[in-house]
Parts: sequence; C-alpha cells; structure tokens
Amino acid sequence: MAMASCFICTARSEKRQNLPWYDVPLRRVDGVGLTLLGVGAVAPGYLLACPDAHVRSLAAMPQWMAAPFLSLVDAAVADLTCRFGPVLVFEHGACESAVRTSACVDHAHLHLWALADRVALTLPRYWATYPDLRSFVAETRATALPSYLLHSDESGGIRIGPDVGVPQFFRRQIASQLGHPDEWDYAACPFGQHMNATRKGLDRAGIRHGD
Ligand SMILES: [Zn+2]
Ligand SMILES: [Zn+2]
Repeated sequence: MAMASCFICTARSEKRQNLPWYDVPLRRVDGVGLTLLGVGAVAPGYLLACPDAHVRSLAAMPQWMAAPFLSLVDAAVADLTCRFGPVLVFEHGACESAVRTSACVDHAHLHLWALADRVALTLPRYWATYPDLRSFVAETRATALPSYLLHSDESGGIRIGPDVGVPQFFRRQIASQLGHPDEWDYAACPFGQHMNATRKGLDRAGIRHGD
C-alpha cells in the first residue's frame, strides 16, 4: 500500500530529479527500504531508515522484509559511525499522528543519529529490553504490539515502552541534551546546514546515493 501524500513513499517512487535535495534517498534497496536525511538535525549525522512497505511500525513489517531491511540499517549505521560517531536509534512505533502523539509520520521509520556518545534516551516506563533490533523485530512482529516507543541504550540493547503521547518525545530529550532545548521541533527548526553536512559527510565516506 503506497500513500500518495506520504513523503517516504514519494521519495521511494519518484525519480531523483523530481525530489528536493533533502528527500533524495542516500541508500536504497529496491523492494526493501531506503535511508533519508533526518529533518531537524540539531546535530549532523542524522538519517531515517524506512522500509518500502507503508506500514505503521517496524514491528508491523512484512516478515520477509525484516532481514533485508535490518541489513540496510546495519549498512547505514556503519556509514554514520565511520563518518560521525556511534549511533543512537529510536522509533515512535505505530503512534497515531491524528491524536497528537510522538509520531512524525505514519510510515514506519527508524531514526539513526550519531549521538550515542553524547545523548542517552529514557522512557518513564518500559515493557521489555532486547539484545538488539533483530531480536526485537523477531519477537514482536507476530504480536499485535500497540503504540510503542523504542530506543537503544548505552550497551547497544533495545528498550521499548508505551507511547507517552508527547510529540517528538525523543527529539525533545536530544535537543535539550545538546543544549538547544527550544529547537526540538523539526518543522520549525530543520537545521538544513546539518542535513547538508550529513549528506556531504556520507559522500566523502564513499557512500553511493540512490539513482
Ligand atoms: Zn508511505
Ligand atoms: Zn519518527
């Protein structure tokens, strides 16, 4: 199911020359997923990894897509780590944007941001911890997981808990810990210079963009 108004589906399906520079995929594996620059890059080194399927969370990905998508995530994390430093991951999974929660967009996307040496995310309550993303996806995709928030911890584990109903909940924590407490809103503060620095940094690391 592709949504015409979804910027991720548009970035996946449009020709590169028809997209604004910030929506051109950096990595793309046809039928599997793509990476895009993160808007609201309070610091450089920020990407979104998105499965091709228009589903509402990583836990809802088609089963066959999980392994190749997680390989794409591994490659993107390696690129970011090489150029920008250790990577923090987080997701607002299956949150209803219509009821004002933490979701940015209703197409599943994993935030990858080279901030793990500077920022630690927390949730008020946790349901579970997994050793890595693979175990999270393997153990949750068979269940009807409700809205959740997910983040990596300092040891690389994945922790999940209930959605807290605060828009851009993790981005607020990140902006605050980076000393920009009022600049968490990606729409108001895109930080285009850092988005451009991310694209250029990954270029210099020898990363090939999608066509
Ligand atoms: Zn979509
Ligand atoms: Zn998001």
